[in-house]
Amino acid sequence: MKIVMLGAPGAGKGTQADMIADMFSIPHISTGDIFRENIKNGTELGAKAKGYMDKGELVPDELVCDLVVDRIQQDDCVKGYILDGFPRTIPQANALEEALKAIGQKLDYAIDIEVPDENIISRMSGRRSCTGCNAVYHVVYNPPKTEGICDKCGGKLVLRDDDKPETVKNRLNVYHEQTQPLIDFYKGTGVLHEVDGTQTMEKVFADIKNVIGA
Ligand code: ADP
Ligand code: ADP
Ligand code: ZN
Repeated sequence: MKIVMLGAPGAGKGTQADMIADMFSIPHISTGDIFRENIKNGTELGAKAKGYMDKGELVPDELVCDLVVDRIQQDDCVKGYILDGFPRTIPQANALEEALKAIGQKLDYAIDIEVPDENIISRMSGRRSCTGCNAVYHVVYNPPKTEGICDKCGGKLVLRDDDKPETVKNRLNVYHEQTQPLIDFYKGTGVLHEVDGTQTMEKVFADIKNVIGA
């Protein structure tokens, strides 16, 4: 099962990817999480990515593509994987297609979670992310049992700097310019499915399960 999650920042890609990953016992690969880990660990890659992320811009393709192509060939990916936040540009999608072709694989589904821009700002300002394990909550729609503390690992929950409204507006522009064209790209390869992301998390998950026949 090889799945790409598409959708605006805050559409619910990570939330749904976690649920699918649990159900199929396959890895949830989030490029955003990989960059944030690198920043936390003070790596060279983290230092290169940080400036772009802080401004709500995309990290250059050449810093992302090889990293993902390596990741999907690791042992835990033999049964499949869910890519969340990659690809984000047409060149990234082409790089992925080429890499898959070279290793004799094919994507099964690209699932686009549709949420209008009007809903995104409130989604993002209420998002709380765990600094320990990357789990994601929402102060209203998916609150942790204890405010500010992760249910899963006891880590501290924070509002990401790039989830503040000024940066979110820029991320939405970047999404429309650079990432939305992937919807037509994957329509063209025949793997695109759209789901209504304004529904509850459970209903969105039910629609995704329908798509993937689970
Ligand atoms: P969201 O969950 O809101 O969609 P992510 O955690 O996926 O956000 O990404 C956070 C930031 O990391 C992006 O704004 C971008 O700067 C960088 N990033 C993540 N994935 C990619 C990618 N595939 N290409 C370029 N930049 C990326
Ligand atoms: P993405 O990975 O696309 O950026 P997330 O999965 O991190 O999105 O979700 C963004 C925020 O919206 C989080 O705070 C999450 O808890 C919340 N959220 C996710 N799906 C829904 C939903 N269907 N309804 C309401 N809030 C949601
Ligand atoms: Zn945690």
